[in-house]
Parts: sequence; C-alpha cells; structure tokens
Amino acid sequence: MRPSVLDPLFAPATVLSGVGPKLAKALDRLLGDETHAARVIDLLFHLPTGAIDRRPSESIAEAPVGEIATFSARVTEHRPAPPTKAKAPYRVIVEDETGDVTLVFFHADVRHLLQSLPIGAYRIISGKLELWDGMRQMVHPDRILDPKLAATMPTVEPVYGLTEGIGGRVMARIAAGAAERCPELPEWQDEAFAARNDFVPFRDAIHALHHPVDLKAATGETVARRRIAYDELLASQIALALVRRQQKKAAGRATAGDGTLRHAIETALPFTLTDGQRKAIADIHDDMEKPERMLRLLQGDVGSGKTVVALMAMAAAAEARRQSVLMAPTEILARQHAERLAPLADKAGLKLALLTGREKGAGRRQVLEGLANGEIDIVVGTHALFQEGVAFHDLALAVVDEQHRFGVHQRLLLGAKGEAVDILVMTATPIPRTLALTWFGDMDVSILSEKPAGRKPITTRAISLERYDEVVGAVGRALDTGAQVYWVCPLVQESDTLDVAAAQERFEALRGIFGDKVGLLHGQMPGRDKDAAMAAFSGGQTRVLVSTTVIEVGVDVPNASVMVIEHAERFGLAQLHQLRGRIGRGSAASTCLLLYKGPLGQVAEARLTIMRESEDGFRIAEEDLRLRGEGEVLGTRQSGSPDWRIARPEIDGDLLAAARDDARLLIERDPQLETPRGEAIRTLLYLFERDVAIRLLRAG
Ligand code: ADP
Ligand code: MG
Repeated sequence: MRPSVLDPLFAPATVLSGVGPKLAKALDRLLGDETHAARVIDLLFHLPTGAIDRRPSESIAEAPVGEIATFSARVTEHRPAPPTKAKAPYRVIVEDETGDVTLVFFHADVRHLLQSLPIGAYRIISGKLELWDGMRQMVHPDRILDPKLAATMPTVEPVYGLTEGIGGRVMARIAAGAAERCPELPEWQDEAFAARNDFVPFRDAIHALHHPVDLKAATGETVARRRIAYDELLASQIALALVRRQQKKAAGRATAGDGTLRHAIETALPFTLTDGQRKAIADIHDDMEKPERMLRLLQGDVGSGKTVVALMAMAAAAEARRQSVLMAPTEILARQHAERLAPLADKAGLKLALLTGREKGAGRRQVLEGLANGEIDIVVGTHALFQEGVAFHDLALAVVDEQHRFGVHQRLLLGAKGEAVDILVMTATPIPRTLALTWFGDMDVSILSEKPAGRKPITTRAISLERYDEVVGAVGRALDTGAQVYWVCPLVQESDTLDVAAAQERFEALRGIFGDKVGLLHGQMPGRDKDAAMAAFSGGQTRVLVSTTVIEVGVDVPNASVMVIEHAERFGLAQLHQLRGRIGRGSAASTCLLLYKGPLGQVAEARLTIMRESEDGFRIAEEDLRLRGEGEVLGTRQSGSPDWRIARPEIDGDLLAAARDDARLLIERDPQLETPRGEAIRTLLYLFERDVAIRLLRAG
C-alpha cells in the first residue's frame, strides 16, 4: 500500500483551490493520461520551462526596451479615445524624472483604469516596453501595482508549459498550490551523498523550483532540479535492481564446462579470436559458472564477431551436458547462423538443429524430440521457438541476437520463463553508456570494441540520384573486378507493399543491364524463395542483390564489397550504419554509395555527413541520439521506454551512474528495504510510480 504521507500528492488536481471542472479538463489534457486524471503530483513535476524577470529598473530611462520592463512611475494623464474614433485605444501617461511611457489599452474598461491608475498616484508597472514613433509605450501591461503591494509580485515569475484554457498566471498559481501541498517526506538519499551535492530535502527542492529566486533558478542547471532528477533515477535504478535480483534468485544453476569443446571449436576456426572476443567469452563463462542467473549484454559494432562468442558460450553449456538456444530476429538470419555454425559445431561433435515457423511435419517432430530427449545440444531459430512452447531436456543458455529488434518487453518475457536459464543478449546497435544504464539497469555488459584484424576501411560517398547512370556505370566496373554488390531500396512510407514495388522495379531495371547476375530479395517473398535468393548471392551465382531492408540485420557475405543505398535520405543513421556494416568484411576495399534525392533537409544532410566522416558505431549512435532523441535510437519508443519526468539523460548522465551504484549497494545491504532508509526508499518508489518492484519484495 502507498504510504499515506503521499496521499495529498496522489489526489486529483481538483482538490487544489481554484481548480473547477473547466480548468480540471484542461489540466487532464495537459497532464493526465488514459489511466488517470491530472493529479497534484503531476503538477508538482510540471516544472517551469523558464521565467520572466520582473526585477525593477532604477528609472524609466534605464528600463530595457524590447523586453519585459518593470519600473515605478507617477500617473500624469488619461487620454480617452476621441469620440469620432471609437476603435482607437485608451491611453494613460506615466512618468518619472527621466522620461515617460504611454500605456495603451484596447477595448478598455475605463472605470477599472480610473481606479487602478488614478492621476497623481505612483504605480509599479511591468510589461513589454516598446518604442513607437520614438516614444516609449507599453500595450496592456502585465502588472499594475500599488507600491505598497510590491512585495506580492514575485520578481522572477516562473513560466510553464500551457495548453488551451490555462493561462500562464493561472498555471503558476495552481503549480504553487500543488507545491504547497507537498508534505515533508522521509529522506531516502544517502546523507553523505546529499550533503556532498548540496541537495536540500525533496520538499524544499520542489518549492525552490516553483518559486525561483532568479532566472537561473527557473531555467538552468539548479541543484534543486538535480536533486529531484537524482531521486527519479534512483527510484528507477532500485526498481531495476529489484527486478534483477528477483530474476537471479528465481533460478540459478552453475553451468561449469571443462573447456574441451571450446578448445575444439577454437582450433577449427579459420581465424584467431580477438582479445575482446576472448575477454567476452571468459566473462560469460564466469557468469555461467556461478549459481546465479546470468543476464549479460554483449555489445559490439556490426562485424565485430559476436556470433562466434555466442557459439563458445553455447559450447560451454554443452560441456556441462546442457542445451542452448540462439534466437535470431529474422528467418534469414536464423538460417544463416545455422549454416555458419553447423560445420564448427560438427567439428566439436555438437549436434545443432534449426527450428523456425517454417520447419514442419516429420522434420519438425524430429527436432522437437531431439530437444526433449537432450540429443540436440544447440537449436537456432526465431522467437517463434519460444512462443510455441518447445520443451527442452535441460536448457542452460538462451542467446538473443540483435536484441534491439526484440524490444524490452520481449526481453522481460524471456527472463520470466522461470527456469534456470542464463541469458546473453547481443546487440550491434551501440548504445551510449548512459542509455545502456537507463535501459538495462545493472545488466552486465561485455563490449567488443575492436574489429577483427584485416578489415579495410569503407569509402562512403553521397551522390545525387540525378547521377543514377554514373552509379550504374560504377557498379558495372565493380562487377568486372569480381566484386558483389548490395543494392538497397528504400522504405516507402513504411508500407511493405510499396517497398516491394520499388525493389521490384529496380530489380527489373538492373536486370535489363546486367542480366541474370541480378537477384532480388524482399520481405514478401515466400520463405523458400528468400533462402534461394540468399544462397545464390552467398554462393556467388548472383552478383548484385537488390533488396529491401531485410538485409539490414546480420547478413554476412564477405565477398560483397559495394553497397548502394537508394534514397539514403529516408533512412535513420543507425539503420544506415547497420546496412553499411554488410560490406567491408572481406579482403577487398569496400565502397558505400548513398544515393539521395535533393534538396536535403538539415537532419538528412547531417546524417549523410556523419556517415561519410565516420565508421565508428559509437560516434554514430551518439550523433543519432543528438539528432533524434533516445527512444527512436533504440526503435522502442512505444515499447516502454523509460519515461523521465525530471531527469534528462543528456545532462544527468553522471547522476545516473551514481544512482546505479547507490541502488546496487542499497539492495545488497538491505534487500528487503527494512532499514529506516529502506522504508524511505519505499516511499520514493511510490512517489515516482516505480512501486511494481515492491511486489517483488513480497514475492521473494
Ligand atoms: P556481428 O558482430 O556483426 O554479428 P559476425 O559474428 O557476423 O559479426 O562476424 C562477422 C564476420 O567476421 C564473420 O564472417 C566472422 O566469421 C568474422 N570473424 C569473427 N571473428 C573474427 C576474428 N577474430 N578474426 C577474423 N574474422 C572474424
Ligand atoms: Mg550478428
């Protein structure tokens, strides 16, 4: 149950004074969602986006023109509109020793003006000061105040995100009311940490944010915002740590191999492993040997050689006479993995099978049997593998390839399978460290930072589609030297059918030039045709493969050294990088031609420039993040991206790392959240609505 101290914050916004049904509706639109109307807490976390400076100037002469000015002056004259010009504004002149200002009112309420601006009286005036025909004027001042009431006007006025039906002053008043209702809460932060960072208590921080004392306090990097950002990050890191601990505890079994199979495979490899690969293999094996469930992310740029790391992990499981699955995101990739790995597995005496939605009948039954009786050591497949309730004799390890295609939700489902399954997820989308942390919490990470030896750099050029004929000529010359070429056709408005039409058309055009050297591959082809097209290209019978983005993930044909990407301006950076990663794998120098249709937008131009300048997946991911925002980089905006209300990943990265360490230590020392700090942490989890994790405590 939510601690009752938080009740005032989870009350609907209508409990705040001045929030009637009409205003409530506007607030719901701005701050509510499908599950709840706007609440006090939503207003609490609706922080100002800026502020208006109403600090008074010394005199009218010194008041800044063109911006908000505040000054004190004496009312000297009322100038009503002449009777012949009813639409003309009503004017009031105010002055001091240094000059005068004409206050301008349209559709004036004259009685009200006579009252609020009596002749001879001093007033504090605040609003936008302008020059009109060389004269200072102010149209509809924001504030007109008796100097006696000066103290009631904040000199720095917070500005909030608004919606139709709520004005700035109303919002400021409601938000202040919400902040007022914030109770004093038990301190959940580590005392020393809070002191070191000059963090004030939660309630004071909220108050400071809604009552900024200067411009910096309202807009910039304030300690108050940082404190609450840290609270938010801490809540999420603790929730993640609890989930993780639960998963580890739920199951765990040591899988210890003796190294014989791994040795056999290593000897059979046509290359030597890189140091990074060796290190990753050792990390994974250490995890598997522990009686806890492994949850490890293997991150390595396209072509860094993740597959062989997976194979070694699966061999380690087999050494302990246990089974493994390797899940690929597409049918094509599953088949390719099976084909590549089978000969190596064979040399080590391992039995490897393929199982996708397409294996049917007797073949399928045979595989299912082999998995159930333990004859099969390794099964490669798509995620259909898990959904169709395949039974294993003794599954030790699940490897998920190209994890970003699966989304967080599926990953959690996989984790919830409940058995003592170690999990290794592999991704080629380099995730900046800060994001990896938000995303995976304290999931362990291995990184392959070097590429296998002998890789040649890829020359990347951006070329206008108008020069299509030249590009075709260049492709022809490349073919003459024995190269193979990928020709990628673009996404057309996210429609599969149109995609296919574009690819089909290009296929026919190129076939007209290069004859049956040209193959076609797209998502709507029947599975067998896809296999055949892939096999023909892989085996060198076709030399140009026209395709849609189905080849984006994982496909490996080392002899392909040219890639043409049509309408490159329509692709995201991460996608372009993935695509380009298909070449540069063999001994020949590779070329990537980005065909674009101008004129280019700013972002598209920036993307193509980055692609030309860099092959570094990490740099590209960072730039992508900058250009697009985090959710899209991972392609998971809908599937439960961490939704920060206060924290900003781009500036609070340091806090994230601290929160992660803090959470880890806390859970280690107080796994049931029973100490006084633990109790306070429970309140924190409810406050930021990460309380699902508390259920895990009870379950455990
Ligand atoms: P990715 O990390 O993109 O999945 P792959 O595992 O498909 O990369 O490996 C890409 C290519 O590099 C494959 O052809 C693979 O055989 C080769 N490879 C992997 N490791 C090495 C290595 N240490 N030295 C040379 N080539 C390697
Ligand atoms: Mg791969």
